[in-house]
Amino acid sequence: MTVNTDVIIIGAGPAGLTAARNLSKSEIEYTLIDRSEKPGETKPCGGFIPSSTLKQFSVPRIEGQHQIDTVRMKFPGKELVSMQFDEILGVNVSRGSLGKALYDAIPDIVDHSLLGSSVEKVVTDARSCRVTMMKDNEETILESKLIIDASGANPVSQRFLPPRERISNSQMGYGLQYHIEVETHLVSSNTFLYGNKFSPGGYCWIFPRGNIAIVGTGGLVKNVRENERRTHEYLDSLLNEVEPFKTELAGGSIIKKDSALMPLCGVMRPSFGKRIMLAGDAAGHCSPISGEGIHYSMVGGQCAAMTAVECVQRNNFSDSILSNYEKRWVRRMGSDLKWGLWLQQKLMRPGVGRSGGWSSSGFIESKKSQKIIAEMLMGRRSVRSAIFTIAPSYLKTKIIKR
Ligand SMILES: Cc1cc2nc3c(=O)[nH]c(=O)nc-3n(C[C@H](O)[C@H](O)[C@H](O)COP(=O)(O)OP(=O)(O)OC[C@H]3O[C@@H](n4cnc5c(N)ncnc54)[C@H](O)[C@@H]3O)c2cc1C
Repeated sequence: MTVNTDVIIIGAGPAGLTAARNLSKSEIEYTLIDRSEKPGETKPCGGFIPSSTLKQFSVPRIEGQHQIDTVRMKFPGKELVSMQFDEILGVNVSRGSLGKALYDAIPDIVDHSLLGSSVEKVVTDARSCRVTMMKDNEETILESKLIIDASGANPVSQRFLPPRERISNSQMGYGLQYHIEVETHLVSSNTFLYGNKFSPGGYCWIFPRGNIAIVGTGGLVKNVRENERRTHEYLDSLLNEVEPFKTELAGGSIIKKDSALMPLCGVMRPSFGKRIMLAGDAAGHCSPISGEGIHYSMVGGQCAAMTAVECVQRNNFSDSILSNYEKRWVRRMGSDLKWGLWLQQKLMRPGVGRSGGWSSSGFIESKKSQKIIAEMLMGRRSVRSAIFTIAPSYLKTKIIKR
C-alpha cells in the first residue's frame, strides 16, 4: 500500500507532537508515525516541565501532574540547600500522560496519525521522500515532500541519509532511573545532587510525582563507560546511606528501572538536508547542563512545522530554504545550548576528590548564586543570564572575549 502526504513526522514525542499541532493549524497535509501505540508511555524521563513552557505552548492540564515550588540542591563540600519560590515552577509528569495531553490537543489527529507503526527505512531524492513502515508484519510505503524526523536521540533517518555526523560518546549523555513507590504523597520539591558521590560527572535527580519518586543519575556516556563504579551503585548508595533521602524514601519499592540516552552536545549542525529536518533530541535540542529536553524539543518541533509550511507553500524543498529551519531554532534556543555546553565543560567534569569540578569554580559560593542556578534549572532564567550574573569577575573577562 502507498500513502501520499505533504509532510511525514517520524516520532510522537514532544517534538513530533508539537510539529503536528502546528501543522494542524495550516492547510498542509501531514502524517505522524510512532512505533508506540501510546505516545511517550515507555519513554524514560524525569518528566519535569517548566511553567513557562506549559504557558508558551498552551499545554492542556496533564493527568497526574505534580506541582513543584521548591528546589533542593547539593554541591560538593556544601550542605543541602532548599529554596522555596512564591510561584509554581513547573510540573513533574508521566511521559504517557504528557503524550496523551499533547496528542488529544491536536484536532483530527486520529485521521493524521499511524501509531504502533515502526519506520524501517527512509529514502529521499530530488523529487520526493519515501518512508517504509511496518505494522503487524504488514509493510506500508508513505510518500511525502518533506520529513520531520523527531524520532529521538538516535534518529532513524540517520541510518540511511545522515545529514550530520553521529553524536559522539563525549557529547551524548546516559541516564538511569529508579521509579520508587512510597505510601505518602511526596513533597513539592525537585532535588539536584552534584559531585562524584552522586554521579559520574553529571548529577543525580529526585523528581516526585504523587507517591512515586523518580530517582536518577547519569553523565556523559564516555565518563559512564570509563568509570569504575557502575551507574546503579550511585543510586543504591543514595537510597541506603544519604539523608534525608534515605528516610524520605524508606520502605519504598522500586517498581521500575529505566535508562536512555540524551544528547548533551550544544548546537549541532547541520540539522537539515535532503528534504529532512531533524527536530528534538534527534537534532540535539536538549540542555547540555541539565539533560532537560522537553521544552527545547517543543521549540524544535514548532520551528520545523513553520519551515515545512513555508516549503510546501512555495513548492521548494531545497537545502537553501530548509536552512531557515536552523536559523529559526538557533535564534530561539541556540544561546541556551551554546552556553549550557560551556557550563557543562566548565563545571561537570568527573574531577577528582571532593570537588568533582564544581566547588573550585567560584560559581556556587553564595546562596544567591545557588538560587540563580536553581532558576536556570527550572527554566526561569536563560543559561547566559545565569552565567553572567554569577560568574566570578576573572571568568567574565574570559567569557566576554569569546
Ligand atoms: C533519564 C532521562 C530523564 C530525563 N528527564 C527529563 C526531564 O525531567 N525534563 C525534560 O525536559 N527532559 C528530560 N529528559 C529529556 C527528554 O526526555 C527528551 O529531551 C525529550 O523526550 C525529547 O523529545 P523528542 O520528541 O525529541 O524525542 P522522544 O521523546 O524520544 O520521542 C521520540 C519518539 O520517536 C518514536 N520513534 C523512535 N524511532 C522510531 C521508529 N523507527 N519508528 C517510529 N517511531 C519511532 C519513539 O517511539 C518516541 O515516541 C530526560 C531524558 C532522559 C533519558
